[in-house]
Amino acid sequence: LRANFSVIQKETGFVNGLITVLHDITEQEKIEMERREFVANVSHELRTPLTTMRSYLEALADGAWRDEAIAPTFLNVTQTETERMIRLVNDLLQLSKMDSRDYKLNKEIVEFNTFFNRIIDRFEMSKSQHVEFKRYLPESSYFVEIDTDKLTQVIDNIISNALKYSPDGGNIRFGVTVQESVLKVMISDDGMGIPKENVTKIFDRFYRVDRARSRAMGGTGLGLAIAKEMIEAHGGKIWAESEEGVGTTIFFTLPYELDEAGEWD
Ligand code: ADP
Repeated sequence: LRANFSVIQKETGFVNGLITVLHDITEQEKIEMERREFVANVSHELRTPLTTMRSYLEALADGAWRDEAIAPTFLNVTQTETERMIRLVNDLLQLSKMDSRDYKLNKEIVEFNTFFNRIIDRFEMSKSQHVEFKRYLPESSYFVEIDTDKLTQVIDNIISNALKYSPDGGNIRFGVTVQESVLKVMISDDGMGIPKENVTKIFDRFYRVDRARSRAMGGTGLGLAIAKEMIEAHGGKIWAESEEGVGTTIFFTLPYELDEAGEWD
């Protein structure tokens, strides 16, 4: 905390006033530091794929394009890197949109179990790994007022992560429990887990437990940061519980509106 004092003095020399301005510089400095860190992160995240692409393109221009065995691989690398940069820029645009004041959710009332099941079905149909899906959803219907596109994106991200970190033969469990005014949703895997000291950090922008591994898997490090903003915009909370070598569970809550009989709660 910094205080600026201005003394109001009359020509006679008598002090007849004192103005004190208190600045919470710690808060201001924190915001400024975060902003600088964010810009540095973005620059770094964009420079990495660009330098990779430059060296592959140089090799192609130097004659590798004539080599039928090498050229397709090199082109493939530049394509993968381009796609990841597009994902990164799209994620950044989404975050900046959410930061702006006129950000609006496009809400509609949907039955949560139906909505959740449909997303799980889509992943179950297309998954290539030997991972078993187990669902623990309530029998009754619960209505939530949500932006379905945004919520789909949140759940897609959590399930993609669960699949990415799942071992062959592992399970992914999907659960919904009903609490007083919220639905508590859980997505749990048997993956490598997250070290205890990092569990809360995974929702920070660009934070990854293993940067190289996340990059190799095409991650941007922004998925859970976006998920957090979206869940909070819906009046919910999101958090993780994890044990290294055992697995990770991501939880989030959503306020629910109507009960099975369609009556307001
Ligand atoms: P990324 O693009 O790296 O997946 P996310 O924001 O989705 O970015 O996740 C941030 C980090 O959190 C990941 O890089 C990973 O280290 C960790 N993480 C997220 N989900 C899981 C999970 N199910 N199991 C283990 N680690 C996870």
